[in-house]
Amino acid sequence: MNQRPSHLFYQGRQRRPVLDQARGVYMWDVDGKRYLDGSSGAMVCNIGHSNENVLEAMRRQMEKSTFGYRLHFETEASEELAAKTAALCPEGLNRVFFVSGGSEAVESAMKMARQYALARGEGSRWKIISRAPSYHGCTLGALAITSYEPLTQPFAPMMQAMPKVPAPRAYLDGLDPDDEATGHHYADMLEAKIIEEGPETVLGFIVEPVGGASTGALPPPRGYMERVQEICRKYGILFILDEVMTGAGRTGAFLAADHWNLSPDIIVMSKGFAAGYVPLGAMVVHERLVETVLDDGGFLHGYTYAGNPLACAAGVAVIDEIERQGLTRNAAIMGDRLIERLEGLMQRYGIIGDVRGKGLLTAFEFMADRGSKAPLPKHLKAFDRFVNIAYDNGLIVYSRRTRDGVEGDHIIVAPPMIVTETHLDEITEMLDVSLAQFTDEIRP
Ligand code: PLP
Repeated sequence: MNQRPSHLFYQGRQRRPVLDQARGVYMWDVDGKRYLDGSSGAMVCNIGHSNENVLEAMRRQMEKSTFGYRLHFETEASEELAAKTAALCPEGLNRVFFVSGGSEAVESAMKMARQYALARGEGSRWKIISRAPSYHGCTLGALAITSYEPLTQPFAPMMQAMPKVPAPRAYLDGLDPDDEATGHHYADMLEAKIIEEGPETVLGFIVEPVGGASTGALPPPRGYMERVQEICRKYGILFILDEVMTGAGRTGAFLAADHWNLSPDIIVMSKGFAAGYVPLGAMVVHERLVETVLDDGGFLHGYTYAGNPLACAAGVAVIDEIERQGLTRNAAIMGDRLIERLEGLMQRYGIIGDVRGKGLLTAFEFMADRGSKAPLPKHLKAFDRFVNIAYDNGLIVYSRRTRDGVEGDHIIVAPPMIVTETHLDEITEMLDVSLAQFTDEIRP
């Protein structure tokens, strides 16, 4: 039995050590053991731990004020962060609504979309199409557009199930992700779904531009993102990008949207946005939507902590650090090198069936057989076991940890964007040792 009160909600999980300190890409527990944070927590701490400039900006803000209720005050910090964020978003996306995390940002987007439709007299539109698998958060609204059974199934009666289309997993379907026909093949499934549901009932389409925990750092096939945007426009459906994991430079561009020059209607961000220094997220909305909703009486939504000055000051400092250190570019360069190293490991370990990623959001997937793409048997709980082995070896990597590994065993490697070649050497070495151990352990 786990004795720690704070862990009572995580029954069955391996007991974790107590964190003492974190600096740069390293973390130490209270017993002095060092870990390399190979997943930036849950793809959060993009700029590395304990960045002195961010801490200093937070100290300065704390001495001025730590809270000002959003209906009473704007703050310099929130105005500055909104301006900086808007400047980094596609044209027209210049209204920023702050929240405290990814799920809140997704909920906000769902409600903003609905209010926009209502303001336009399109009350029949309420369905938000998403993909399977996908992950958009753990609140009931976000779960309704999430497709991952172990997390959604117990709550099914409490949610309005939303329509889903298959996420484009070309590698599993034997299709070439570099062929535009593949991208169009999957995108056209969205059009078919819209027609099946009745276009007049569809409010939006939400997508993780590079799949996160759901598909394991999987970039879309060529032509997919542009085509789904086109389809949304054709049917007057709002195009919503969930950049909670991909935003703030992680994929080698400030937003993944930049890779395909997309102009969505709404973008949601969190994680790397304040890089874990404080809870912060944002919904960035096209001015057209906001003005329509404001003309109709305003947005019926808002959280007590929205625009918290300390959180916003940290957010400003994080963006400054990303720009000052050129971390987005580093993510692109180091990401390519990390993929090469993972491919090297794939050549040596037959159990790795696929390697993919974009920027420093990378993953490898275990398979029983590369030819048939058969996953490892579920009972092996490979994703869990490998993460634990790596952890014991001092490397933190990420994998979705649920009761069953139903979506295949992918391991995400996504170190902070400050990584150097030397850190990549260290990561590769620890992965190598862990893979050897893991292969021995599961060998029949
Ligand atoms: N959307 C995506 C793509 C995510 O990866 C996550 C979290 O992993 C969320 C939404 C939910 O964010 P949060 O856990 O901050 O509520």
